[in-house]
Amino acid sequence: METQRLHNFNAGPAALPREVLETAQQELLNYQGTGLSVLEMSHRSAAYQEIIDATEASLRRLLGLDERWAVLFLQGGATLEFAGVPLNLMRTGRAGYVVSGHFAQKAQEEAARYGKSLVLASSESTGFDRIPSLEGVEAAAAGCDYVYICQNNTIFGTTFSELPACGDTPLVADVSSMFLGCPLDVERYGVIYAGAQKNAGPAGTCVVCVRRELVEGGPALAACPTYLNWELEARKGSMYNTPNTFGIYMSGLVFDWIERQGGLAAMEARNRAKAQVVYDALDASDVLHGTAEKCSRSFMNVTFTSGTPELDAEFLSMAAAAHMTGLKGHRLVGGMRASLYNAVTLEEAQLLAALIDEFGSTHTRAESH
Ligand SMILES: *Cc1c(COP(=O)(O)O)cnc(C)c1O
Repeated sequence: METQRLHNFNAGPAALPREVLETAQQELLNYQGTGLSVLEMSHRSAAYQEIIDATEASLRRLLGLDERWAVLFLQGGATLEFAGVPLNLMRTGRAGYVVSGHFAQKAQEEAARYGKSLVLASSESTGFDRIPSLEGVEAAAAGCDYVYICQNNTIFGTTFSELPACGDTPLVADVSSMFLGCPLDVERYGVIYAGAQKNAGPAGTCVVCVRRELVEGGPALAACPTYLNWELEARKGSMYNTPNTFGIYMSGLVFDWIERQGGLAAMEARNRAKAQVVYDALDASDVLHGTAEKCSRSFMNVTFTSGTPELDAEFLSMAAAAHMTGLKGHRLVGGMRASLYNAVTLEEAQLLAALIDEFGSTHTRAESH
């Protein structure tokens, strides 16, 4: 008998739709009559070319990306692109960063290896509990090759409620933990990229969507490693070398699943409903509270705490007993975090909300004795 599958609130690698896992299982030994597993086939085979082409086409439909955009499936995670961004785009040697959390800070520090990476706004002084004020970003953007944001801060549970205005300067966004969780107004961006393992597939693939005009002449810096040359990767169809064949295939199954669910607008409606249920429970609780400022709250990663490590540990053990996993906060911040990615159902969010309610009432009862 199958061990019960857990309610998976992991931040990444994270929950995948059951249907996707079942399709992968059915096709594992013999992919659509080819006589091979996707794990075994050449990336240069016609069968694999069809898989990667269909995966890219599906992603383009979901996001509304036309031929002005190159879509790349690369390895090295979002982290390698912290370097890929300046190496490809730092033409005059100055870039502006909005530092709204750990990953934005890492990206800003990485860019400093290649040029001036200016901090245009930061919420470090308040422990990254909010998106910083974007006042002044537009004026500073004029002297920058690009403005960089991490649009959803996975660790701190914050999301930009509006994008910074940056005039003609391209906006570069790490959208890893909200990618395909809602529609994006792609006209506002120059580069959109995401590690797949949060909401778009298994670990090992980073999706980079870049406006071709930004990389037409090749990378900004001659030192750019060949692998990170976006213009070359676009010409080679993400196959300058062997891509993560199985990861791309799995992401393609996720993209198809999202299309069957009604696309990104449907995903956003579901995700916002799930987040609402959990935030409502937190706002009503006398014991647990959300850690992000209300107007910066993420609809994907909900961070919360009781305020004491002992009570947090108690909550986590109650959650484990209720077959919930992945709720421990990131090691940098402690507390709890519920990642409510596309594959997490409304019913699962409701179970979590019920647990938050129950924890509040048992704790209050215990105190009054
Ligand atoms: C997880 C995460 C990263 C790091 O991704 P890797 O694929 O592990 O390199 C970067 N940015 C954001 C927003 C993330 O959530």
